Parts: sequence; C-alpha cells; structure tokens
Amino acid sequence: MVSRVIPVDPFDLVIFGGTGDLARRKILPGLYRRHQDGQMPDDARIIGAARGEMDAEGYRVFVENAVREFVPKKKCDPKDLKGFLARLSFVQLDATGTQGWSDLKAVVRQDVVQAFYFSVGPSLFGAIAERLHTHGIAGPEARIVVEKPFGHDQASAQALNDTLAQHFAEHQIYRIDHYLGKETVQNLMALRFGNMLFEPLWNAQYVDHIQITVAETVGVEGRGSYYDRSGAMRDMVQNHLMQLLCLTAMEPPSKFEPNAVRDEKLKIIRALDPVATDDIVRGQYRGSNTVASYLEDAETDASTTESFVAMKVHISNWRWNGTPFYLRTGKRMRGRMSEIVVRFKEPPHSIFEEDTGQSANELSIRLQPNEGMDLKVTIKEPGLGGMRLIDVPLDMTFADALGEEAADAPDAYERLIMDVIRGNQTLFMRGDEVEAAWAWTDPIIAGWEDRGDRPKPYDPFSTGPEEALMLLHKDGRRWREIRE
Ligand code: NAP
Repeated sequence: MVSRVIPVDPFDLVIFGGTGDLARRKILPGLYRRHQDGQMPDDARIIGAARGEMDAEGYRVFVENAVREFVPKKKCDPKDLKGFLARLSFVQLDATGTQGWSDLKAVVRQDVVQAFYFSVGPSLFGAIAERLHTHGIAGPEARIVVEKPFGHDQASAQALNDTLAQHFAEHQIYRIDHYLGKETVQNLMALRFGNMLFEPLWNAQYVDHIQITVAETVGVEGRGSYYDRSGAMRDMVQNHLMQLLCLTAMEPPSKFEPNAVRDEKLKIIRALDPVATDDIVRGQYRGSNTVASYLEDAETDASTTESFVAMKVHISNWRWNGTPFYLRTGKRMRGRMSEIVVRFKEPPHSIFEEDTGQSANELSIRLQPNEGMDLKVTIKEPGLGGMRLIDVPLDMTFADALGEEAADAPDAYERLIMDVIRGNQTLFMRGDEVEAAWAWTDPIIAGWEDRGDRPKPYDPFSTGPEEALMLLHKDGRRWREIRE
C-alpha cells in the first residue's frame, strides 16, 4: 500500500483527563496509530494531566496498557510502542485549583502547535480555559478541543460558548462530534459533490424520502445515571443524527473549507420545521431473561427518559419541500447499524405490466458495520418467462473494494485529532451550529415534559416500539430492516 500520510507540524498536545475512560479507549490508542503511521514529527509530544498521583513513568505504563488493550494485537509493535511512549509525560494538576499549573507552564512549549484536549466533564471547561490564560500557557494560536455533551439545552450551550469565548476565539475552538470523523461520513460529501450522477437527483423532485438510523445493541449499563439525565434526543439526535442530516441535506458549499461547509449545515438546521407531536415516537427498553431493563440499568424505579426515538422531520427549503426525513436511534436494538438511506421515487410511468416487480431505487450509505454503500437498481430477472423485474444491489463495501487500505483507515478520533493539529475545522461544529441544533431540540423536549409524556416500552433486541413502525406505515413507507 502506498502511504499517503502527510506528517503534521511539531506539537504539544495536553490531554486534560488524560487518565479517563475516553483517553484510555480512544484518544491515546488513536495517537499511537498516528505515531505508528509516521504522521508525527520527532518533536511531537503528548502530556497527560489529571489530579491523580502519577509520574511520567507511571503514565507511560498506563498508556502502554491502554494501547495493548485497545489496539489490535498485530499493530502493537514493541519498537513503535517504545517510540510512542517516549513522547509522553504527565502533569498532576487540579482543573479547579492552583496546584500543578506552573508545572504545566514549564512543560508546554510556545514555539510549536499547542493543542489542549478537554477530555473532562463540561463543568471543568471554563476553569481550564481560564487557567490556560491566567498562567500564560496558551499562546494566541493555541487550539482547544471540547468533548460532547456541549450543553444540555440552548441556554447552557450558549453559556458554555460565552465562557470559552472569554479566552479563545472561535477559530481556536474544536467541538468534537466523532461521527464527523468517520470515513463514510466524509464519503457522503465526496459522493454528493464529487460525482455528477447523484446531485441532479438529490432533491424533492426525485427523492421520495430519506431515513437515518443509528441503532445500537448495547443498553445504558455502566453510564445509566448520566444517560438518565440525557436520553436519546440529547445524547444522539441533537448532535450525531443532526450532523448526518445536515451533510445529507445541505446545499453544495462553494469550497470544501470549514466555514463554507458549516454555513451550509447551519442553514439546514435553521430550516427544520418544528416536529408535530404525532410525528415522534419515544421508547424505553424492557428487560428479558438475559438482559436488564432500562430502569434496572439506570438504577431507578421510575424514569420517563427515552432510550429510543423515531421522528419525521421536514426541511422548509426549495430543495426538500415535501420530502420527509425519518430519523431513528435507539439502544438495545436488534442490530448495531448506522445507515443513511435515500429512497428515490418510482419512475413516473411504467412501461411494464403490473406485477412485474418494479420498485424504486435506493441508495444506502453504511457508516457501520461494513462501511460502504450500495445502490439498489432494478434489472430483468435472468432467464425465460417474460419480463420480470428484480432489485439487485450494486454493492461497494469499502473493505472489499479498497482492501487493506480501507481496513487500515484511521479511526474517527485519529483523524479529528490530526485535523486539530493541522488547524482544519471543517469536521468540527461551530458554536452557532450547536446553539441552533439545541434551539430546534429544546421545544420538543419541553413538550414532552409539559405533557408528562411517557416513552413506549419495547422489547430488547427488537426494532423499537410498534408505534415507530406505524410512523412510516401511515405514510405508506417502511423502515429499512435493522440487521442482526
Ligand atoms: P472519566 O473516565 O470520568 O475521566 C475523567 C478524567 O478527568 C480523569 O482523568 C480524571 O482524573 C480527570 N479529572 C476529573 N476532575 C478533574 C479535575 N478537577 N482536574 C483535573 N482533572 C480532573 O470521563 P471520560 O469518560 O473519559 O469522559 C471525559 C469527557 O469526554 C466527558 O466530557 C465525557 O462526556 C466525554 N465523552 C466521553 C466518552 C467516552 O466514551 N468515555 C464519549 C464521548 C464523550 P482525576 O480524577 O485523577 O483527576
């Protein structure tokens, strides 16, 4: 395979919360892979920071264990690991206190790219941003990376934006939505704007409807108390599904550059209609002989938090007038699947007799598993017996089509962290985008609260509540199957 890795500039990356779950499972293993690929220059350094007592040697052991646990065995090369660990150091500090900040100042260089990853709870963002300034650690071009959740509603997101804006300009703030770092999500843009084939058909005249599904088989076990304060609407729809919706629906930006792309996404969010009560179904999973119920996982006797939501959404603009977008996400579903399906209209006039089996084209873009896309086309069924039509998929599974290169594609976090170092914000959310997404979400949640809405129970490993199927049935449509 020809390596297309372009090394980044020398950098100091400080990971606040460098001993936390996200750092251990995603950030540090991802950085190891970038080191292994040769993307980091010799003087790139990574500094973990947290309150726990630890020295640099202890941190290297922690990181080595994380890499061994979360990077496939065949990629854990002792020489690469040694080189990677040599980049690491650790500073013990308290985000809300004074301890450790002068140590950090002594370590962070001013003449390289500075990136500060806030892998801590959002309540600490303000304290860290402030101390980076008061201690003179962050230079004028320093970048900060903030994790989800970005606010709990529009007011809290605004407050968070205001707090960060006191110390950093918008071009320095990288709000992560790791869905945007997925290979297929970027392929969605390549597909739409790099081909002549689809764009002329990508509108209400030719598209019957669009479905976006993000289904998980896991429940909320382990993070039940956090999740119970959030729910599927805040945890998934407001951010991940919203981003997928925007990239699917937006107008072509004039250039593939950060503000051009984000301007177009923002226009979509602002063009979303309020959602009618009848157009949303909420659900909460039951338990079974083998798995706990939502209430057991969330360790509560009663909760009206949804672990599933399905909805019909309209975009009020010229391109999409009359074409519904159906969104669906849930936990403890039949399969793990993230997919965007564009269902085209049937040909306006059929020259074939009835019952020949003709149906509409469908383009599906799979984010996981088996990243790839397929286009359902109608052909003649081979053989004798007259003109009978069948649907066949033109399938492009990236791993089949691109082989090793696809299998080796960087994980979303790897790509996004390297984008931070390069200073490219295209795949990060802008402050106004996040606030606009909350402005659309808030009234939906407030409506549930006002009405005392209770989610519908659904069986674990199913497709969600019956009512979610009806949401499409009543429009004469069907959800794409969730595969096991
Ligand atoms: P976590 O496992 O609880 O880790 C928190 C980290 O922050 C630890 O290293 C902790 O170390 C440090 N910390 C806590 N209080 C601190 C303080 N006052 N000063 C300095 N360091 C402090 O949390 P996480 O799961 O890694 O999540 C981190 C952030 O990422 C959160 O905002 C979360 O919502 C977001 N996120 C996580 C995931 C995930 O899969 N885990 C996914 C998406 C987003 P000490 O206690 O030793 O200080």
